[in-house]
Amino acid sequence: MNAHYPVVATRAGHRCEYCRAPEAIFNFPFEVEHIVPTGSTGTSTDDNLALAGRSCNLFKADCREAVDPETGLTSPLFNPRVDDWTESFSVDRSRGTILGLTPKGRATIERLRMNTPSQLEARRQWARLGLFP
Ligand SMILES: [Zn+2]
Repeated sequence: MNAHYPVVATRAGHRCEYCRAPEAIFNFPFEVEHIVPTGSTGTSTDDNLALAGRSCNLFKADCREAVDPETGLTSPLFNPRVDDWTESFSVDRSRGTILGLTPKGRATIERLRMNTPSQLEARRQWARLGLFP
């Protein structure tokens, strides 16, 4: 396990810091993710680390920006250490969809593929259990 996991997971409330998936219902700990990749200028310090589920971390990979589908312009991705989740995203509870409120929010949803059919179905089940949002 990543040495930073206890601090990062506790700070995140054991939720993915991108899609807010609840770690408690997964059968494997979430991942400690570098917001700015170490291959770029990122460091393994707490201010550059975030807790992410497998799906978000897989699709984020080494990306730092993506296209906002509403404007067609490139935007930095949501940064959990700098940006406020509720200012960047909202949730359609009935459909399970995460909505982007800002260019960063929309670009992050696209890049991390946060609204695939399996994501929506999972969120509806989490909501039914009172675990989401
Ligand atoms: Zn996630």
